[in-house]
Amino acid sequence: MLKIAFIGLGNMGGGMAANLVKAGHAVRAFDLAAEALEKAKGHGCATFGTVREAVQGVDAVVSMLPNGAIVDRVYSDDVIGQAPGGALLLDCSTIDVATARKVGEAAGKAGYAMVDAPVSGGIAAANGGTLTFMVGGSEAAFERARDVLNPMARAVIHAGAAGSGQVAKMCNNMLLAIHMIGTCEALALAGKAGLSMQKFYEISSKSTGYNWSLNDYTPAPGIGAASPADNDYHGGFASALMLKDLRLAMAAAAAAGATVPMGEHATAIYEAFNEAGNGARDFGAIFTTL
Ligand code: NAD
Repeated sequence: MLKIAFIGLGNMGGGMAANLVKAGHAVRAFDLAAEALEKAKGHGCATFGTVREAVQGVDAVVSMLPNGAIVDRVYSDDVIGQAPGGALLLDCSTIDVATARKVGEAAGKAGYAMVDAPVSGGIAAANGGTLTFMVGGSEAAFERARDVLNPMARAVIHAGAAGSGQVAKMCNNMLLAIHMIGTCEALALAGKAGLSMQKFYEISSKSTGYNWSLNDYTPAPGIGAASPADNDYHGGFASALMLKDLRLAMAAAAAAGATVPMGEHATAIYEAFNEAGNGARDFGAIFTTL
């Protein structure tokens, strides 16, 4: 049994913290939102009024926060120097690579082991304990992180040095955006060119066009795999979150001098889609624009 502080109990963090409790760990929870704290209490977490109180005496700190600026502030002000020296720090938020490396370095200088451990999988996977964690940090920190992450995970993979987890996450989601848009285009074209979309799904899902967006998350209503398309694009992975991840990828590409023409185009498409008021809709709703 470990004593674990959990910071950020929103859509993702709420279910993740509950799974740590189910695994027998003592979870000390903090969130700015009273409602999130109440829910966490209902799942068996002890709740605290500040980050500093939550990290007292813990073996590990897990965070699941909205963005890099918040992660930087929470760790710099209230975790580093406040959590016990031997505590392992795990940030599971999706944030920019530069901030992940900066916070990891500051933690290291203060004597903490830290990993960036962003996730693949949405709210259902967070609730069900079936997330994939991509972990950046030293081999030794990864080995320790595995014990903390396992109750929330289907897979825990060591990506490489600090920041590598975030690199894996943004590259994965840039690829996801690109094959989602391509899948939407192919389905719409098939329908317009005189092939039934259902037939196209049956053929392409067993041909070289197969991919996760087509086979497992078919973005056309009533066609192929069950997905948010069958529920008017409610639930699933919000277009606003996809745009967030694409912007992180574009920033990292600029910093690394990488050429990403399809990523840039996908970003422009999701930007226009969000500006038109579709941020809350599932990212497969791009289909409706074609
Ligand atoms: P969310 O907005 O539901 O939850 C974030 C929580 O952090 C909120 O409860 C908020 O009150 C809390 N918070 C904000 N500032 C805080 C602070 N200073 N101290 C303590 N708590 C604070 O967001 P989410 O959907 O749970 O996403 C969390 C992270 O997971 C994001 O980085 C997101 O990109 C990533 N992610 C989300 C999904 C998804 O499908 N929702 C999937 C993969 C990764």
